[in-house]
Amino acid sequence: MKEVILIKLGEIVLKGLNRKNFEDRLIKNIKHRLHFIGPCKVKNAQSAITVTPIFDDVDIEDVAYCISKIFGIAAFSRACAVEKDIEVIKKSAGEYLADHFGRISSFKVEAKRSDKKFPFTSPEIAKEVGGYLADLYPEVAVDVHNPDAVVTVEIRDDAAYIHSEVFRGAGGIPVGTGGNGAILISGGIDSPVAAYMMAKRGIELTAIHFASPPYTSERAEEKVVSLLKKVSEYSGKMKMYTVPFTKIQEEIRDKCHEEYFTIIMRRFMMMIAQKIAAENDCQALITGESLGQVASQTIGAIACTDEVCKMPVFRPLIGMDKEEIISISRKIDTFDISIQPYEDCCTVFTPKHPRTRPVLKNVIEEQNKIDYEPLIAEAVENVKITEI
Ligand code: ATP
Ligand code: MG
Repeated sequence: MKEVILIKLGEIVLKGLNRKNFEDRLIKNIKHRLHFIGPCKVKNAQSAITVTPIFDDVDIEDVAYCISKIFGIAAFSRACAVEKDIEVIKKSAGEYLADHFGRISSFKVEAKRSDKKFPFTSPEIAKEVGGYLADLYPEVAVDVHNPDAVVTVEIRDDAAYIHSEVFRGAGGIPVGTGGNGAILISGGIDSPVAAYMMAKRGIELTAIHFASPPYTSERAEEKVVSLLKKVSEYSGKMKMYTVPFTKIQEEIRDKCHEEYFTIIMRRFMMMIAQKIAAENDCQALITGESLGQVASQTIGAIACTDEVCKMPVFRPLIGMDKEEIISISRKIDTFDISIQPYEDCCTVFTPKHPRTRPVLKNVIEEQNKIDYEPLIAEAVENVKITEI
């Protein structure tokens, strides 16, 4: 008896003629992710994707865990694949579902027969298997209206599949089908959540992190790497660019009026990020900003920041409360890393009274006190690349 994973596609099915592209990309993503767990056969046939571990030492639990984080999958089940013989199917169902039947009090059987050569009709299969299970587990009642569990028997071309528990998938659409985006990532709670949310909409990520040693430490950067590793369980692999930002921040501190420190810093971040984004074929920037959370995230401040942006800036958290953001960060397991107390370049040289309603003309005037083009070019030239 071989255990496999049966996958139910998500929104992909809505995509009409693009469906094939979406499916192909999903399969590529599944193969790539499973590569780290063990060799598996991934087959797309009769409108279902089946994942079969090739060797017995591959833990199906690990495969299921990995599958649960791949976008484009609405739901999945663990199933056993057996010979298409009604006696074998009955006996296997009895054995395979033993644990599950220990936890439920009622069930029904549904059958789907896509191999029309199989000598029993769907209602006959359901009746045969249901009767067998009812005899084997007399303490579990048959309930066709509101059962605890629906046992499904699918007769496909290659085998018969038996499954019962359905697990929720990660939803969304396959990473890579939505283009590329550059996530500005700090060590905070918000930006990893923003990265996760855009990957869920099919965007492949490139990460950009600004570091200001010695004001920010090596540990702060390692923290960002740990966060991105967590995000990559959903988004797949990515490149992380660490941008040396110290000189620019010191220039701002030395030359600009304190009220404008943050806003000018953010404009420089966006200018640099766009250059790195363009080099990586990214069509949008992504940030973890949420309206009104801090002084640099008021409408006025965001407008002043965006004035330097020629590509769209996606801010998936813009309308969310901190509590909502935290609940996603717990779900994707980044919260405990995010709350480790390391400094971020945004928290060095912070003004005591930042402008919440900056006037663009004044911001530009302050910014122009710096000969910034060469500094930006130097920062971009000296980025460090880490593979996540
Ligand atoms: P986070 O929790 O993600 O740090 P935050 O609420 O602390 O966000 P800010 O520090 O104002 O907010 O940063 C707003 C956004 O700017 C972040 O969500 C992130 O996208 C970006 N950002 C902040 N610091 C950095 C950094 N050091 N490197 C790259 N991007 C950054
Ligand atoms: Mg931050």
